[in-house]
Amino acid sequence: MTAHTSAEPTAELTALFHRQKTAQRGQPVVERDVRLDRLTRLQEALLSAEPTLIAAMSDDFSHRPAMESRLYDIDLVLGEIRQAKRHLKRWMRVRRAPVPLVYKPARAEIRPQPLGVVGLISPWNFPVQLALAPMVAALAAGNRVMLKPSELTPRTSAALAEMLASVFAPEEVATVTGGPQIAQAFSALPFDHLFFTGSTSVGRKVAEAAARNLTPVTLELGGKSPAVIMPGADLDRAGRRIAWGKAMNAGQVCVAPDYVLVPRKKMLPMTDAIMGGFMHFFPDGPESDDYAAIISERHHARLTAMLSEAEARGAQILRLEGATGNARKFAPTVVLDPPQDIALMQEEIFGPILPLVPYDDPQEALDFVAARDHPLALYVFSDNKKEQELWLDHSTSGGVTVNDVAIHVGFGTLPFGGVGASGQGSYHGRAGFETFSHLKPVVRQAKRNGMAIAEPPFKGWRKRALGMMRKLM
Ligand code: NAD
Repeated sequence: MTAHTSAEPTAELTALFHRQKTAQRGQPVVERDVRLDRLTRLQEALLSAEPTLIAAMSDDFSHRPAMESRLYDIDLVLGEIRQAKRHLKRWMRVRRAPVPLVYKPARAEIRPQPLGVVGLISPWNFPVQLALAPMVAALAAGNRVMLKPSELTPRTSAALAEMLASVFAPEEVATVTGGPQIAQAFSALPFDHLFFTGSTSVGRKVAEAAARNLTPVTLELGGKSPAVIMPGADLDRAGRRIAWGKAMNAGQVCVAPDYVLVPRKKMLPMTDAIMGGFMHFFPDGPESDDYAAIISERHHARLTAMLSEAEARGAQILRLEGATGNARKFAPTVVLDPPQDIALMQEEIFGPILPLVPYDDPQEALDFVAARDHPLALYVFSDNKKEQELWLDHSTSGGVTVNDVAIHVGFGTLPFGGVGASGQGSYHGRAGFETFSHLKPVVRQAKRNGMAIAEPPFKGWRKRALGMMRKLM
């Protein structure tokens, strides 16, 4: 590991990159044993650093529930490691492919191969999970990894750097810490793949920087993920789950329900169900130990400004009552029928404010979502199969959970990623292995084969045979 903190990182970064590149060229075949050993080292390091990481995350947030850190940062990564170790043999296997008649008796196969040296840039909201889950996939696929974690969680990033340095040589896994300037220099390195998790605006810059090197990118971005209450929804169940998804990490979750579309006649019971959920989870109010604080004063001020604007424009606001001794806590808040031109409805909220937007008929709700960028996630609440299918068929989003929120992310068996403005590419489980592998098509020609048919001069029997080939292609 090398921790970079200087403002001029370029020479040092380039040297680190070349160190990894040279090591990779010296070991182009990365056997399964080597990959398993790297995954095991990461697993053991994570288990022993768990208390340090949980304390660091809580310090960085000024308070974060230990259980949330354990479940969503540590356990999710341990699950990815376990899955990768269990299935690596199958994932790495050379896959036989069918051979078109005209090429028989050649043989065809797809060989997964490491890409080489990959870069990971991660955000602050799940600072361990979003740094290490892509790392698991990259290591399983046999790559060397350079990680640039977020500067907004300096203690967690330092603890991660230390943990990784304790089990990996810098030419296997290296951590580069620092702010946007270093991040920018990092994204300019000629990686074999660059995997970015963060905001859509920075994602655009990363894609531009990578394009200069023709470095392929995976972009795991954000956006406004809607929850839709259909007429066939169980409001109490929906309200409680939406409140859960919005209160987790105080709404600082890329797949948190950003706003809720509600049949106009059901606005009142829906509001009660959501507020009831918040009160049930935090009977002592936002001061609860089980409720996270906001990552920084700047983000707290951003949320306060969004709410003030909604209030000034006449929207009704309901907040979970109770003291907030910690100045960085922000009470779970519902905003009823806000105007559409305010920041709350134009930008990703990324905090515990939940606008409820009334609609009159389902087509209006479909049009509302379709008129905006494709969201990272979409949640449909209905016990009616037709209503569920309507949304599955007529909306585009990175992923969907029906009758719940966010849980599709926890399925290591499903690819996780966005579409359009919410991202490109995916990972988790096998999808992650494939993102970080080159799936190389290989054809092995047979000694005796029919290729002479395609050799000039195109006369006589060749011409007649080639004329018939169209049907066999
Ligand atoms: P961010 O885009 O501000 O920062 C993410 C990372 O990018 C940080 O490490 C930062 O140092 C780096 N960075 C900053 N400027 C850069 C530049 N010019 N070039 C290269 N890298 C640069 O995002 P954030 O505030 O840390 O995270 C919140 C955002 O991330 C939200 O939009 C959220 O929806 C999104 N997010 C998406 C996912 C997902 O899986 N799709 C998960 C978590 C968060």
